[in-house]
Amino acid sequence: MTRKIIFISNRLPITVTKGASGFEYHESIGGLATGLKSYHQQAGSIWIGWLGLADDELTPKEKNLIQKRLKNQHKCLPVFLSKQAINDYYYGFCNNTIWPLFHYFTDKTETQVSTWKAYQDVNQKFFEVLETVIGKNDTIWIHDYQLMLLPRLIKDKYPQAQVGYFLHIPFPSFEIFRLLVWREEILLGILGADLIGFHTYDYARHFLSSVRRLLGFDHNFNTINHEGRSILVDAFPMGIDYDFFVKNHAVQVEEEMAAIAEQTASKIVLSVDRLDYTKGIPQRITAFSRFLEKYPEYHKKIRFYLIVAPSREEADSYSELLKEIEKLISRINGKYGTLNWMPIWFFFRSFSQQDLIYFYRHADVMLVTPLRDGMNLVAKEYVASRTDCQGVLVISETAGAASELSEALVVNVNNFDAIADSIKVALEMPEDEKRARNKLMHKRLQRYNVKFWADEFLMTLKTSVADWRQNMATKDLEKSSYVIEQAYQHSSNRILFLDYDGTLVGFKSIPEQAKPDQELIGLLSDLADDPQNMIVIVSGRDKYILEEWFGDLNVHILASHGLWLRHSHETEWIMTTLLENDWKDTVRPILSLYTDRTPGSFIEEKDYSIAWHYRKCEPDMVAYKLSEIREHLMSLISSTTLGLQEGNKVLEVKDARVNKGYVSSLFIQQNDFDFILGAGDDYTDEDLFLSLPPGSFSIKIGIENTNAKYQLKSWQSMRSLLRKLVRISNTNKQQ
Ligand code: UDP
Repeated sequence: MTRKIIFISNRLPITVTKGASGFEYHESIGGLATGLKSYHQQAGSIWIGWLGLADDELTPKEKNLIQKRLKNQHKCLPVFLSKQAINDYYYGFCNNTIWPLFHYFTDKTETQVSTWKAYQDVNQKFFEVLETVIGKNDTIWIHDYQLMLLPRLIKDKYPQAQVGYFLHIPFPSFEIFRLLVWREEILLGILGADLIGFHTYDYARHFLSSVRRLLGFDHNFNTINHEGRSILVDAFPMGIDYDFFVKNHAVQVEEEMAAIAEQTASKIVLSVDRLDYTKGIPQRITAFSRFLEKYPEYHKKIRFYLIVAPSREEADSYSELLKEIEKLISRINGKYGTLNWMPIWFFFRSFSQQDLIYFYRHADVMLVTPLRDGMNLVAKEYVASRTDCQGVLVISETAGAASELSEALVVNVNNFDAIADSIKVALEMPEDEKRARNKLMHKRLQRYNVKFWADEFLMTLKTSVADWRQNMATKDLEKSSYVIEQAYQHSSNRILFLDYDGTLVGFKSIPEQAKPDQELIGLLSDLADDPQNMIVIVSGRDKYILEEWFGDLNVHILASHGLWLRHSHETEWIMTTLLENDWKDTVRPILSLYTDRTPGSFIEEKDYSIAWHYRKCEPDMVAYKLSEIREHLMSLISSTTLGLQEGNKVLEVKDARVNKGYVSSLFIQQNDFDFILGAGDDYTDEDLFLSLPPGSFSIKIGIENTNAKYQLKSWQSMRSLLRKLVRISNTNKQQ
C-alpha cells in the first residue's frame, strides 16, 4: 500500500506572475513557503495551493500551460480562484476576521456572513482539487488559518487518510476565540485532523481549552476522543533551513547594500518584516527614537536598517500603516539627522534570502519586536546567519520564537524604555558574552531545523494514527462481529447484559428524549422471546422509568446500577443489597459546601449514592478544585464500605457493594450459560466487564481505554449487532 504525502497551503511555494514576456515563476516569500521548501524538494510529495494569479486573468490555454509547468518542474498542483473569491475569502475572512482576531486585534476584526460563505466555498474548492490526486491512504498535511475547514472535509470522505493540520499563527486564548461567530464550525473543521500542531504549548493549550469549553470535548494527555477517533494536539516549534543560513552565499550586492561595507565605523541595527500591524513596526521606530534620545553618544555612530517587505497592500489598513511608518521615520530622521548622517534607512521592498543573509551578517543588533507573532522565522535566521556569534538579538516575548531563544534579550514590546536600554546593552555586550549566548542558540537551531520539524510532525502523525488504529484493530468489532455471531449461533443457553444509555440509544439527559424507540423495543422483544436467551437490562436509571419503558418485555431489569432487581414476568422489585444510609448525612453537607462555591455544579441523590455533577461548570476552575474535593471525600470514606467513583464530569460517593458487576455475577452463577455477553459505554460498565468469566464477550461502546475485550464505535454499531443476532434467532426458530 503506497502512501504519498500531500502538502496543502493557501499559497504554493511558487508564485506565478504575468510579465511582459510571458509568465514568470518566483519562489514565494513567507515563513511557510521558505520553511517547507527544502523538505518538499527532498520528499516525493505534491503541494496544492493557490498560485497567486486570479482565475479571471487567465485563458483556459494559459491555465493548462501553468498547470503543466507547476506539475513537472515543481510538483505543485494549483487551485484557481476568481478575483471575487480572493477578495472575499483571502482579504475578507482570512485577513479581516481570522488574522486580526487570532493576533488579539479585536477592534480590527470584521464579521461578515458573505466572507464566511466565501471561506467555506474556497475550502471546498481546495478539497475538490485534492480529490483529483488523493489516494485513500495518503498522508495529507494542511497548513494554516486559511484552510481550517479542510481537515473535516477530508476525514468525512476519506476516513483512512492520515490528516495533519498545522496552524502557523497564534491560537488565541478562549476569551478572544469565543468572540468568533463561527467558532464551533472552525473547531469542528480542525478536529477532522488526526494530529493538530502549533508553534508553542500556549497555543496548543488555548486550543484544547476552547474545544473543551465550546464543544464539551474533554482531553487527556493532549488527546481528544471524538467520533470514534483519537486526535492528538501538540506543539512543534518550526525551525529554519539552518545550513542555508550558515553557508556563504555569493550575493549580488546591490549598490545601496555596498554602502554598509564603506561605513564599518557605524553600528548597524536591523529589522526585517512583512508590512503588517502585528509586527509592531511603528512601536519599534518609536523605541529606536527613544534610544537616540536617551543615548546621544550614539548619534552619528549608528544606523537602523528597517526592511519592510510589501504585503497585502490592497487593504486600506495596510496603506495607512505604511503612511504612519513613513511619517514616523521622516520625523525622526528630520529631528536627529545631519548632512552626513541619517539614523533610519527604510527599505520598502523585499529582498531575496541570500541578500537578507548579507544584512543579517552585518547587523550588530537585530530587533524582532512584533506585537504578536505565531513564530517569527526572521529571529532564527538572524542568529543562524551570524556564524561569528557576534550579533545580539532583541526579541519581544509576544513572538512565538521567544520561548526557544531565551538567551536573546527578551523585552516587553510596549516598554519603549526597556527596548531602548536593550539596544544599548546589546551594542555594549562583551564579545565573550555574545559568543556564549549565541552558541547555545546555534546548537538548538541546528538540531531543531525545518527538516527536523517536518520529520517530527510527520512521524508523530504516522505513529499516533498507527498506534491508535492497532489498538482499535485488536478489539474492533466494526467489521468482524462474526466471532460473536458464530458463538451466538452455536450456543443454546445465553445471557446478554445490556446497558441502556449510550449503548442501546444515544445518551440524552432529558427522559422524554431518552425513551426507547420502536425499533429497539422490537429488537429486545425478539431477542427476549428466543427461549434460549436471557436478557438483562443493566442501567443506572431508577426503577420507575425502566419499568415504564421495559416492564412489558420478557426481560430482567437491574436498576440503579444493580441495587434493584425485577425479574421478567414479575412485578415486584427486590433490593439486592441491604443499605445503611447514615453516611449520607456526613457526605451531603461537604458536597453542599463545594456546590455553593462552584457555580454550575449540583448534587444528585440516589438510593445508594450521592453524586456531584460538574458538567456545567467552567472546566479550568473545576480541574483546579477537584483534587481538593477528592482528598476531602477520601479522608471521610477511607475506613467505610463506601467508594468514590469518577465518571464523565461526575464524582459519586456510593456504597461500594452496589455495582453492575456484583449482581450480574449472581445471575451467571445460577446457570450454566454457554454464551455470555455484556455491553456498556461508561465507567460503571467496567465493573460488569471485569465480573464476566473468561470466554465471555464484553463490548465497550466507545474508543476510550477499557477492560472490555471488544470495542464498537457507537450505539448505532451495537444496534446493528443486535439486528444480526435477532436474524440468527429467527433463522434458528424456523429450522
Ligand atoms: N523574507 C524574505 N524577503 C524579505 C522579507 C522576508 O525572503 O524581504 C522571508 C524571511 O527570510 C522569512 C520570511 O520571509 O523566512 C518571514 O517569516 P516570519 O516567520 O518572520 O514572518 P511571516 O511573514 O511568516 O509573518
